[in-house]
Amino acid sequence: MSSRPNRPHRQLSSTARGPVCAPRSRLERRMLAGLAGCLLGGLVVSPVRGDLNLSNLDRTSKPQINFYDYAVDGWKKTHPIPAAYSTWGAFNEVIDRNEAILHRILDREAAAVHPDPIGALVGNLYSSGMNLAAIDAAGIAPIRADLQRIDGMHSASEVIDMVAWFHKHSLEAFFALGSEQDPKDSERMIAGESQAGLGMPDRDYYFRDDARSKELRSHYVAHVARMLALIGDDPEHAKAEADIVMRLETAMAKASRSAADLRDPVANYHKLPLAEVRKLTPHFDWTAYLAGIGLPTPEAIDVSQPEFMEALDGLLASASVDDWKAYFRWHLIHDCAPYLSKPVVDENFAFFGKELTGVEVLRDRWRRVLNTVDSCVGEALGQLYVADNFPPESKRRMLQLVNNLKDALRARLLTLEWMDAPTRTAALAKLDAFGVKIGYPDRWIDYSSLTMDRGPYVLNVLRANAFNVRRDLAKIGKPVDRLEWGMTPPTVNAYYNPSMNEVVFPAGILQPPFFDAKADDAVNYGSIGAAIGHEMTHGFDDEGRQFDAHGNLSDWWTPASAVKFKERSAAIVRQFNSYAAIGEIHVNGELTQGENIADLGGIKLAYAALEHALEGQSRARIDGFTPEQRFFLSFASVWRQNQRLEAERLQVNTDPHSPAAYRVNGPLSNLPEFAAAFDVPEGSPMRRAAKDRVEIW
Ligand SMILES: [Zn+2]
Repeated sequence: MSSRPNRPHRQLSSTARGPVCAPRSRLERRMLAGLAGCLLGGLVVSPVRGDLNLSNLDRTSKPQINFYDYAVDGWKKTHPIPAAYSTWGAFNEVIDRNEAILHRILDREAAAVHPDPIGALVGNLYSSGMNLAAIDAAGIAPIRADLQRIDGMHSASEVIDMVAWFHKHSLEAFFALGSEQDPKDSERMIAGESQAGLGMPDRDYYFRDDARSKELRSHYVAHVARMLALIGDDPEHAKAEADIVMRLETAMAKASRSAADLRDPVANYHKLPLAEVRKLTPHFDWTAYLAGIGLPTPEAIDVSQPEFMEALDGLLASASVDDWKAYFRWHLIHDCAPYLSKPVVDENFAFFGKELTGVEVLRDRWRRVLNTVDSCVGEALGQLYVADNFPPESKRRMLQLVNNLKDALRARLLTLEWMDAPTRTAALAKLDAFGVKIGYPDRWIDYSSLTMDRGPYVLNVLRANAFNVRRDLAKIGKPVDRLEWGMTPPTVNAYYNPSMNEVVFPAGILQPPFFDAKADDAVNYGSIGAAIGHEMTHGFDDEGRQFDAHGNLSDWWTPASAVKFKERSAAIVRQFNSYAAIGEIHVNGELTQGENIADLGGIKLAYAALEHALEGQSRARIDGFTPEQRFFLSFASVWRQNQRLEAERLQVNTDPHSPAAYRVNGPLSNLPEFAAAFDVPEGSPMRRAAKDRVEIW
């Protein structure tokens, strides 16, 4: 989608599904649109056992040598990776179960004779997506008028009109524009703009020099040509168009910042008065564009990457209208591909599924359509989901857990050595202002102005996109709405949003093995408790330091505290650098330090909170394990997973989260509490020497 992605929220896991319903990144959308695999074809709700499942254990491993193996190898041996997945773990199991639940809801609503408006919305969209006969018979007819509009462009001003039309329908072109919370005035929503416009997932794909990357580029150009041929272009002409697309996108990629450079919130904030934006881009008619997308002239725009806009302006001056025709034709068919006929879906999967992610098989149709429903009208589907799948007791128990974790963090903030007095005062104020959202929004999105009918599918999707873009743009210039959510209720993930200073746990993750309203405290504190602690510490770490209690971009650490934090974080960088992940490839301690610190803090805070909760309770062993042992086993069980070598390599190279085994063994080997729980003698791999032990939170 071309709406502006939210500023990066810290998510619990990047293997789980990313933010949904809020404008989402292009790669996420392509994956959600069916470019990942599937295991079960039917309606089977696979049971994910609550409480502790002892068959997950491998008792031939020693908890003192390798706790991860001990805690999950039993599971790993009995849960091979399904052919269509690159990774299979607890997150996938829960997503799979959720999809089965959602599938039943969608079938029910699609078949309802007199559905209520919410039921009709999701039922019609789903039904239009499942009507393969109609979709295949229509071919590209539903978007033919739009292709003709592109072909009819004659002037530079019509190019600008086309950009506006694309953005109105959340289609990728040039840049992305949408609302954002002003990073320096967190009460206000402003217009934000950022680099975009590429077909491949990231700017680096256009420049990497190794043989495989070069091959990918040539396959990409061939794919673009085949897609253009599928919409009726003469094959020779389509090849020429694909070369033009590659030239334009490469120029845009060249001016784009790397993913790492996008993570710095200060360097990516440039709120400019509109007059300045016009000066930066003299060839871009902002008056026509703003009128085209229906946005009343904003006072200012946060131009996140000004050099990108300058380069784009140069491109506008130099490229011909015919060049842009090729560019728009490609992006229209590319963005609409998952919703069109089989030849288009298959060609799209061949490159963006098989070639880019290594996945062998296209996921079940119903799963792909389900994800589209979630992305288009996620809070409508979410209402139906939580009605039967989120007992009020879960919310009550979660609030209690969060409050206990908050108390544990407060106790730590009061005594942390590396924080000096002014930093500590600011940290406590930030903790007091800390917000929490659990399960689902207090107020749902009002979909009453949106109609979904029985098809064509692609037109339903474009109409839903237009609705979501209108909703997003309408926020600009208004106060921030604190009731909004960045994930839909069925999402199996969690996030911390620094601009809101809040943690958010959708209903989707509040089920076993992450959370079990029926399980004892030891199990819940080890799983969701550690996750809550993890998210919370992000508000106070070296990223959280950049946003104050009100969510404003303002550094609240003193230089002295920053220096001391750095000393400690250097130790965790060394620890993780020492882990050989695959053969000679080591974990990247620099890249993963933020998440490793949060993992260590999360489990430590959860342990403290558990000890507090256990006061006055029975400490009897269950299944032969003490509460403390069950706590650590529960923690490890969340990270059970099997992963293909390719996926592991990709994760080690690019993911700020460490491989699963090290997310368990790394933090636990730093914890004296773990050593005590499992009688780990000094000198054991699971007990780091006192001089090397890392302690931050
Ligand atoms: Zn995190």
